[in-house]
Amino acid sequence: MKFSVMTLFPEMIDRVLNESIIGRARKKGILSVECFNIRDYTQDKHRRVDDYPFGGGGGMIMQCQPIYDCYRALTEKNANKPYTVYLSPRGNVLTQKKAKELSQLPHLAILCGHYEGVDQRILDEIVDEEISIGDYVLTGGELPACVMIDCISRMLPGVLAEESSYEEESHYNGLLEHPQYTQPRVWNGREVPELLTEGNHRLMEKWKREQSIAITKKMRPDLIRRPIPDDKRLRFMKEEDRPLYLEMATAFYNTPGVLHTIPQEHIHKTFDNILSGNPYLNAYMIQFEKKVAGYCLLSHTWSQEGGGLTVWIEELYVRPEFRGHKLADKALRELFNLYEDTACRYRLEVTEDNRIAKKIYYRLGFKGLDYQQMIKE
Ligand code: SAM
Repeated sequence: MKFSVMTLFPEMIDRVLNESIIGRARKKGILSVECFNIRDYTQDKHRRVDDYPFGGGGGMIMQCQPIYDCYRALTEKNANKPYTVYLSPRGNVLTQKKAKELSQLPHLAILCGHYEGVDQRILDEIVDEEISIGDYVLTGGELPACVMIDCISRMLPGVLAEESSYEEESHYNGLLEHPQYTQPRVWNGREVPELLTEGNHRLMEKWKREQSIAITKKMRPDLIRRPIPDDKRLRFMKEEDRPLYLEMATAFYNTPGVLHTIPQEHIHKTFDNILSGNPYLNAYMIQFEKKVAGYCLLSHTWSQEGGGLTVWIEELYVRPEFRGHKLADKALRELFNLYEDTACRYRLEVTEDNRIAKKIYYRLGFKGLDYQQMIKE
């Protein structure tokens, strides 16, 4: 991947990104970083690149001309018009997800502002997206550029020793990382948790997941109950949905994740009860781009242990042609918001080997139960 940085301080970028893991990856040719000094493109005889703001206010504003000519040199040299980001405290805050998205690009151009910022017209002319590295203000875009390039680069194949290194870290799966320990086993009277030294991989993985969820809940509860960014995914079912609901529910009972099929009349009966407002039931259609992409069937019970309403996620199904958009994940998050003030817990059943579904549920904060389930009909 290539990064082209437009800056007034190219040495700052180069120095930071020539060290350690990113420096080595540059040497290996996995990524390249080229800097364009905006000052080299000014037409001002005193090499100025900024001027006072119209309308008053403190500080200086970087002018359009030097940035535009710099950008033209960049696009001519590379014979393309790369996706262009302006680093700015008012941009979308950089997240692991955004960095992963940007890491798919072959070429990224980055504009670093300085002083009080840059003339809006150049942003309107060349910039595709504004990105901030956090809700605070720095003196220039160079450090944010290094932060963003570092974060994107370590997700490029070959940069880290093992790809899983970043997949297991904080934020990749929406959770923060569990605590880590190394030698010695006892330091300053503090011991490494015994379980991590015993070598039982299943227990260690369980411990890590539980710690991860507990730490996220404590430090960043907003990550677990994140507001849903897109338009609403869920809507109530209507009579017209009956044929599609029947089709989807039948398909759901034929998926490998379900152990038993059921008689068709159960599906009809459930749909009738949903529409008649049975208080034990609730159901939603999952929508994507104004089409029905799946459904979710819920039932309500009371839990003394949980201290209130328990929502059972009875069925959650996404039609094959809509998979790959994280709709199950988004639908569940929306559901948690809908029940935020009423439910104290959610329950569901999942087969031992349904790894994909389990990954989603763990990511959303579910954990296994110590109880075995029993049934009488
Ligand atoms: N006047 C601007 C404002 O209030 O939004 C702040 C300008 S700041 C002092 C100078 C430059 O630093 C910006 O143009 C931007 O490129 C960079 N910068 C500062 N804080 C940043 C942040 N949190 N994320 C990304 N870039 C930032």
